[in-house]
Amino acid sequence: MIGTWRAACASFRLSSQILRGQYRGVGTSCCHLSKLLMRNIKESPAKRMVSITWKDNTTDVYPYIYLRDNCQCPECFFKDSNQRLVDVVRDVDIKVKPSRVELSEDGTNLSITWPDGHVTVLDADFLSKKRLPSEAELKGRVCTDVTTRKVELWGSEFKKYIPRMKFHDILNNEAVEFEFLNSLYRYGLALVTDMPIQEGQVEKLGDRIGYLRMTTYG
Ligand SMILES: [Zn+2]
Repeated sequence: MIGTWRAACASFRLSSQILRGQYRGVGTSCCHLSKLLMRNIKESPAKRMVSITWKDNTTDVYPYIYLRDNCQCPECFFKDSNQRLVDVVRDVDIKVKPSRVELSEDGTNLSITWPDGHVTVLDADFLSKKRLPSEAELKGRVCTDVTTRKVELWGSEFKKYIPRMKFHDILNNEAVEFEFLNSLYRYGLALVTDMPIQEGQVEKLGDRIGYLRMTTYG
């Protein structure tokens, strides 16, 4: 059971790495924007987003729920471990609209007041790093397919159908290994069963399907 749980954690970590890798292009292409200042903002309540025009006249759009999810205040985010403290899926209406959005006079900060009185303040550098890829950027990338094709969303009913594979089968049988990777890609989840209880087994699995990287959690 512990092995299964640990493997599930490893699976999550690995799938996160895969997904992060697909967006690596965004991270590098946005570097020129960091340290920029905001020139002005425009709200689009119907689309539930705010667009920011930077000093160099480029524009990026930020959905309201995305801004709420990225609140960096001590109530919402624990900086030491890079962890969110608010479960936006559970606690925030996905259609949330701020009661007020303000740009500081010097263009360095965006202040958003939410209907419950909570205030999110995000600085220009953070916002530029968190910019989302434009539709044109997504179209030009192979990852458009990867992020939308054959990816399936699931609810609580999925717990009955979570794909399960035996540890030794993944390591010794390429068809099962493929099934495991495909499940990670398609559902973001796979359960590994029958794991030996000795230390180092998760690393074996990691080495088999990719490589291990340090995370905030070790
Ligand atoms: Zn907050």
